[in-house]
Amino acid sequence: MINLTGRTALVTGGSRGIGRATALLLAVAGARVIIADRSDCTASVDTATWSEIVRRGGEAESHYLDVTDSAAVDALISDIAERYGLDILVNNAGVLTAGAVGETDDDTWSRQFKVNVDGTFYCMRAGVRAMLEAGAGQRGKPHGKIVNVTSISGLRGNPGFAAYCASKAAVVNLTRQAAIDYSPKGININSVAPGFVETDMTAVYDAPTRAALEGQTPNGQWADPTQIADAVLFLSSDLSDHIVGDILAVDGGWLVGTPVVA
Ligand code: NAP
Repeated sequence: MINLTGRTALVTGGSRGIGRATALLLAVAGARVIIADRSDCTASVDTATWSEIVRRGGEAESHYLDVTDSAAVDALISDIAERYGLDILVNNAGVLTAGAVGETDDDTWSRQFKVNVDGTFYCMRAGVRAMLEAGAGQRGKPHGKIVNVTSISGLRGNPGFAAYCASKAAVVNLTRQAAIDYSPKGININSVAPGFVETDMTAVYDAPTRAALEGQTPNGQWADPTQIADAVLFLSSDLSDHIVGDILAVDGGWLVGTPVVA
Protein backbone atom coordinates (compact mmCIF):
# COMPACT_ATOMS: atom_id res chain seq x y z
CA MET A 1 0.00 0.00 0.00
CA ILE A 2 1.42 3.40 -0.96
CA ASN A 3 1.08 5.97 1.79
CA LEU A 4 1.98 9.59 1.01
CA THR A 5 0.45 11.10 4.14
CA GLY A 6 2.30 14.25 5.17
CA ARG A 7 3.85 14.78 1.74
CA THR A 8 3.11 17.63 -0.63
CA ALA A 9 2.88 17.06 -4.37
CA LEU A 10 2.81 19.64 -7.15
CA VAL A 11 1.15 18.47 -10.38
CA THR A 12 1.37 20.74 -13.41
CA GLY A 13 -1.49 20.48 -15.89
CA GLY A 14 -3.84 18.89 -13.36
CA SER A 15 -7.06 20.30 -14.77
CA ARG A 16 -7.80 17.34 -17.03
CA GLY A 17 -6.50 14.15 -18.62
CA ILE A 18 -3.44 12.45 -17.17
CA GLY A 19 -2.69 15.32 -14.77
CA ARG A 20 -6.17 15.20 -13.26
CA ALA A 21 -6.03 11.41 -12.82
CA THR A 22 -2.59 11.77 -11.21
CA ALA A 23 -3.70 14.50 -8.81
CA LEU A 24 -6.72 12.41 -7.73
CA LEU A 25 -4.59 9.30 -7.18
CA LEU A 26 -1.87 11.11 -5.22
CA ALA A 27 -4.59 12.54 -2.99
CA VAL A 28 -6.11 9.07 -2.43
CA ALA A 29 -2.63 7.98 -1.28
CA GLY A 30 -2.74 10.79 1.30
CA ALA A 31 -0.66 13.54 -0.29
CA ARG A 32 -1.58 17.20 -0.15
CA VAL A 33 -1.92 18.06 -3.85
CA ILE A 34 -1.21 21.43 -5.44
CA ILE A 35 -2.51 21.74 -8.98
CA ALA A 36 -0.89 24.30 -11.27
CA ASP A 37 -2.08 25.20 -14.74
CA ARG A 38 -4.13 27.87 -16.46
CA SER A 39 -7.65 26.56 -15.97
CA ASP A 40 -8.21 24.43 -12.85
CA CYS A 41 -8.36 27.40 -10.47
CA THR A 42 -10.93 29.15 -12.67
CA ALA A 43 -13.06 26.05 -13.44
CA SER A 44 -16.40 25.60 -11.68
CA VAL A 45 -16.33 23.81 -8.33
CA ASP A 46 -18.27 20.98 -9.97
CA THR A 47 -15.52 20.23 -12.45
CA ALA A 48 -12.25 21.48 -10.94
CA THR A 49 -9.77 18.83 -9.85
CA TRP A 50 -8.94 20.57 -6.55
CA SER A 51 -12.60 20.60 -5.57
CA GLU A 52 -13.06 16.91 -6.45
CA ILE A 53 -10.16 16.09 -4.10
CA VAL A 54 -11.66 18.16 -1.30
CA ARG A 55 -15.11 16.55 -1.87
CA ARG A 56 -13.44 13.16 -1.36
CA GLY A 57 -11.91 14.30 1.94
CA GLY A 58 -8.41 15.16 0.66
CA GLU A 59 -6.37 18.33 0.79
CA ALA A 60 -5.78 20.34 -2.39
CA GLU A 61 -5.08 23.79 -3.78
CA SER A 62 -5.17 25.10 -7.30
CA HIS A 63 -2.98 27.90 -8.64
CA TYR A 64 -2.83 29.69 -11.96
CA LEU A 65 0.50 28.87 -13.60
CA ASP A 66 1.81 29.11 -17.13
CA VAL A 67 4.84 26.81 -16.97
CA THR A 68 6.59 28.87 -19.65
CA ASP A 69 6.89 31.78 -17.18
CA SER A 70 10.03 30.98 -15.19
CA ALA A 71 9.53 33.79 -12.64
CA ALA A 72 6.01 32.53 -11.91
CA VAL A 73 7.30 28.95 -11.56
CA ASP A 74 9.97 30.11 -9.09
CA ALA A 75 7.42 32.14 -7.10
CA LEU A 76 4.90 29.29 -6.83
CA ILE A 77 7.45 26.65 -5.87
CA SER A 78 9.10 28.84 -3.24
CA ASP A 79 5.67 29.63 -1.80
CA ILE A 80 4.85 25.88 -1.58
CA ALA A 81 8.28 25.12 -0.13
CA GLU A 82 7.86 27.79 2.52
CA ARG A 83 4.35 26.73 3.56
CA TYR A 84 4.61 22.94 3.35
CA GLY A 85 7.91 21.76 1.84
CA LEU A 86 7.87 20.16 -1.62
CA ASP A 87 8.20 16.36 -1.67
CA ILE A 88 6.86 15.36 -5.10
CA LEU A 89 6.88 17.23 -8.41
CA VAL A 90 5.00 15.86 -11.42
CA ASN A 91 5.85 17.72 -14.63
CA ASN A 92 2.82 16.76 -16.66
CA ALA A 93 1.77 19.97 -18.48
CA GLY A 94 2.24 19.53 -22.20
CA VAL A 95 0.91 20.45 -25.62
CA LEU A 96 0.82 18.62 -28.94
CA THR A 97 0.68 20.11 -32.41
CA ALA A 98 0.79 17.98 -35.55
CA GLY A 99 3.15 18.61 -38.46
CA ALA A 100 6.00 16.96 -40.35
CA VAL A 101 9.24 19.01 -40.47
CA GLY A 102 8.23 20.74 -43.73
CA GLU A 103 4.84 21.73 -42.28
CA THR A 104 6.08 23.06 -38.93
CA ASP A 105 6.30 26.84 -38.66
CA ASP A 106 8.53 28.73 -36.23
CA ASP A 107 5.72 29.46 -33.78
CA THR A 108 4.64 25.83 -33.56
CA TRP A 109 8.21 24.66 -33.05
CA SER A 110 8.94 27.16 -30.33
CA ARG A 111 5.59 26.69 -28.55
CA GLN A 112 6.17 22.93 -28.33
CA PHE A 113 9.60 23.53 -26.81
CA LYS A 114 8.47 26.39 -24.55
CA VAL A 115 5.78 24.30 -22.84
CA ASN A 116 7.15 20.77 -23.05
CA VAL A 117 10.87 21.43 -22.49
CA ASP A 118 11.34 24.90 -20.98
CA GLY A 119 8.33 24.40 -18.69
CA THR A 120 9.67 21.07 -17.46
CA PHE A 121 13.14 22.54 -16.97
CA TYR A 122 11.89 25.60 -15.04
CA CYS A 123 9.84 23.41 -12.69
CA MET A 124 12.69 20.91 -12.22
CA ARG A 125 15.16 23.70 -11.45
CA ALA A 126 12.94 25.31 -8.83
CA GLY A 127 11.89 21.86 -7.56
CA VAL A 128 15.40 20.49 -6.96
CA ARG A 129 16.41 23.73 -5.23
CA ALA A 130 13.41 23.53 -2.88
CA MET A 131 13.97 19.82 -2.17
CA LEU A 132 17.70 20.26 -1.51
CA GLU A 133 17.07 23.15 0.83
CA ALA A 134 14.61 21.00 2.80
CA GLY A 135 17.16 18.16 3.04
CA ALA A 136 15.29 15.61 0.92
CA GLY A 137 16.59 12.08 1.43
CA GLN A 138 18.84 13.19 4.31
CA ARG A 139 18.59 12.44 8.02
CA GLY A 140 15.72 9.98 7.64
CA LYS A 141 13.62 12.25 5.42
CA PRO A 142 11.93 10.71 2.38
CA HIS A 143 13.58 11.05 -1.00
CA GLY A 144 12.44 13.95 -3.14
CA LYS A 145 10.57 12.67 -6.20
CA ILE A 146 10.38 14.25 -9.64
CA VAL A 147 8.38 12.53 -12.37
CA ASN A 148 8.47 14.00 -15.86
CA VAL A 149 5.70 12.96 -18.23
CA THR A 150 7.34 12.39 -21.60
CA SER A 151 5.89 10.15 -24.34
CA ILE A 152 6.60 7.14 -26.50
CA SER A 153 7.04 9.89 -29.13
CA GLY A 154 10.22 10.88 -27.26
CA LEU A 155 11.64 7.40 -27.69
CA ARG A 156 10.92 6.74 -31.37
CA GLY A 157 9.53 8.63 -34.35
CA ASN A 158 5.79 9.25 -34.63
CA PRO A 159 4.77 10.19 -38.19
CA GLY A 160 3.53 13.78 -38.55
CA PHE A 161 4.61 15.09 -35.12
CA ALA A 162 8.12 16.52 -35.62
CA ALA A 163 8.20 19.22 -32.95
CA TYR A 164 6.35 17.11 -30.39
CA CYS A 165 8.71 14.13 -30.85
CA ALA A 166 11.79 16.34 -30.59
CA SER A 167 10.49 18.09 -27.47
CA LYS A 168 9.60 14.84 -25.70
CA ALA A 169 13.02 13.35 -26.59
CA ALA A 170 14.58 16.38 -24.86
CA VAL A 171 12.55 15.59 -21.74
CA VAL A 172 13.80 11.98 -21.85
CA ASN A 173 17.44 12.97 -21.79
CA LEU A 174 16.93 15.84 -19.35
CA THR A 175 15.44 13.24 -17.00
CA ARG A 176 18.41 10.91 -17.38
CA GLN A 177 20.97 13.69 -17.04
CA ALA A 178 19.41 15.31 -13.97
CA ALA A 179 18.88 11.90 -12.33
CA ILE A 180 22.65 11.42 -12.24
CA ASP A 181 23.27 14.79 -10.60
CA TYR A 182 20.53 14.56 -7.98
CA SER A 183 20.30 10.89 -7.05
CA PRO A 184 23.35 11.18 -4.74
CA LYS A 185 21.62 14.16 -3.10
CA GLY A 186 18.40 12.29 -2.24
CA ILE A 187 16.17 13.19 -5.20
CA ASN A 188 14.87 10.51 -7.58
CA ILE A 189 14.16 11.81 -11.08
CA ASN A 190 12.33 9.51 -13.50
CA SER A 191 9.92 9.73 -16.42
CA VAL A 192 6.73 8.05 -17.46
CA ALA A 193 6.32 7.60 -21.21
CA PRO A 194 2.65 7.06 -22.02
CA GLY A 195 1.47 5.47 -25.24
CA PHE A 196 -1.93 6.47 -26.61
CA VAL A 197 -4.24 7.69 -23.85
CA GLU A 198 -7.91 8.73 -23.94
CA THR A 199 -7.66 12.49 -23.30
CA ASP A 200 -8.44 15.80 -25.03
CA MET A 201 -4.93 15.68 -26.53
CA THR A 202 -5.62 12.55 -28.59
CA ALA A 203 -8.85 13.96 -30.03
CA VAL A 204 -6.63 14.97 -33.00
CA TYR A 205 -6.75 11.34 -34.22
CA ASP A 206 -9.64 10.43 -36.51
CA ALA A 207 -11.39 7.06 -36.18
CA PRO A 208 -9.44 5.18 -38.90
CA THR A 209 -6.09 6.40 -37.52
CA ARG A 210 -7.14 5.42 -34.05
CA ALA A 211 -8.13 1.93 -35.21
CA ALA A 212 -4.77 1.58 -36.97
CA LEU A 213 -2.89 2.64 -33.83
CA GLU A 214 -4.83 0.16 -31.73
CA GLY A 215 -3.90 -2.52 -34.25
CA GLN A 216 -0.21 -1.64 -33.83
CA THR A 217 -0.43 -1.98 -30.04
CA PRO A 218 0.23 -5.47 -28.65
CA ASN A 219 -2.62 -5.35 -26.12
CA GLY A 220 -4.87 -3.62 -28.69
CA GLN A 221 -5.92 -0.83 -26.34
CA TRP A 222 -5.48 2.83 -25.56
CA ALA A 223 -4.90 3.66 -21.91
CA ASP A 224 -7.28 5.24 -19.48
CA PRO A 225 -5.52 8.25 -17.83
CA THR A 226 -5.63 6.42 -14.49
CA GLN A 227 -3.34 3.72 -15.89
CA ILE A 228 -0.68 6.39 -16.48
CA ALA A 229 -1.35 7.91 -13.06
CA ASP A 230 -0.70 4.48 -11.47
CA ALA A 231 2.87 4.58 -12.82
CA VAL A 232 3.37 8.18 -11.69
CA LEU A 233 2.14 7.23 -8.21
CA PHE A 234 4.66 4.38 -8.03
CA LEU A 235 7.53 6.67 -9.09
CA SER A 236 6.37 9.25 -6.51
CA SER A 237 6.49 6.74 -3.67
CA ASP A 238 9.14 5.12 -1.47
CA LEU A 239 8.69 1.91 -3.53
CA SER A 240 10.80 3.53 -6.27
CA ASP A 241 13.72 4.75 -4.12
CA HIS A 242 16.21 2.59 -6.06
CA ILE A 243 14.91 3.63 -9.49
CA VAL A 244 17.03 6.41 -10.99
CA GLY A 245 16.67 8.07 -14.39
CA ASP A 246 14.26 5.44 -15.70
CA ILE A 247 11.85 6.05 -18.57
CA LEU A 248 8.87 3.86 -17.73
CA ALA A 249 6.78 3.15 -20.83
CA VAL A 250 3.07 2.67 -20.15
CA ASP A 251 1.97 1.91 -23.67
CA GLY A 252 0.32 -1.50 -23.98
CA GLY A 253 3.57 -2.76 -25.49
CA TRP A 254 3.73 -0.30 -28.41
CA LEU A 255 7.48 0.28 -28.05
CA VAL A 256 8.21 -3.41 -27.73
CA GLY A 257 6.94 -4.32 -31.17
CA THR A 258 4.03 -4.51 -33.55
CA PRO A 259 1.82 -7.58 -33.48
CA VAL A 260 1.42 -9.56 -36.70
CA VAL A 261 -2.23 -9.71 -37.67
CA ALA A 262 -3.16 -13.02 -39.32
P1 NAP B 1 -4.50 17.32 -21.99
O1 NAP B 1 -5.74 16.58 -21.61
O2 NAP B 1 -4.49 18.17 -23.20
O3 NAP B 1 -4.02 18.17 -20.73
C1 NAP B 1 -2.87 18.97 -20.81
C2 NAP B 1 -2.69 19.69 -19.49
O4 NAP B 1 -1.52 20.53 -19.63
C3 NAP B 1 -3.87 20.57 -19.15
O5 NAP B 1 -4.15 20.48 -17.77
C4 NAP B 1 -3.34 21.97 -19.49
O6 NAP B 1 -3.96 22.89 -18.62
C5 NAP B 1 -1.86 21.84 -19.18
N1 NAP B 1 -1.06 22.85 -19.86
C6 NAP B 1 -0.88 23.02 -21.20
N2 NAP B 1 -0.11 24.10 -21.42
C7 NAP B 1 0.23 24.60 -20.20
C8 NAP B 1 1.00 25.70 -19.76
N3 NAP B 1 1.62 26.53 -20.63
N4 NAP B 1 1.14 25.93 -18.43
C9 NAP B 1 0.52 25.11 -17.53
N5 NAP B 1 -0.23 24.06 -17.89
C10 NAP B 1 -0.38 23.82 -19.20
O7 NAP B 1 -3.29 16.31 -22.20
P2 NAP B 1 -2.95 14.86 -21.61
O8 NAP B 1 -3.20 13.91 -22.69
O9 NAP B 1 -3.53 14.68 -20.27
O10 NAP B 1 -1.35 15.02 -21.52
C11 NAP B 1 -0.65 15.20 -20.30
C12 NAP B 1 0.82 14.92 -20.58
O11 NAP B 1 0.96 13.59 -21.09
C13 NAP B 1 1.43 15.84 -21.63
O12 NAP B 1 2.74 16.17 -21.27
C14 NAP B 1 1.43 14.97 -22.88
O13 NAP B 1 2.39 15.36 -23.81
C15 NAP B 1 1.69 13.61 -22.29
N6 NAP B 1 1.28 12.49 -23.13
C16 NAP B 1 -0.03 12.31 -23.48
C17 NAP B 1 -0.38 11.22 -24.29
C18 NAP B 1 -1.80 10.96 -24.71
O14 NAP B 1 -2.02 10.01 -25.49
N7 NAP B 1 -2.79 11.69 -24.23
C19 NAP B 1 0.60 10.34 -24.73
C20 NAP B 1 1.92 10.56 -24.35
C21 NAP B 1 2.25 11.62 -23.54
P3 NAP B 1 -4.39 24.38 -19.01
O15 NAP B 1 -4.79 24.35 -20.46
O16 NAP B 1 -5.41 24.69 -18.04
O17 NAP B 1 -3.15 25.20 -18.78
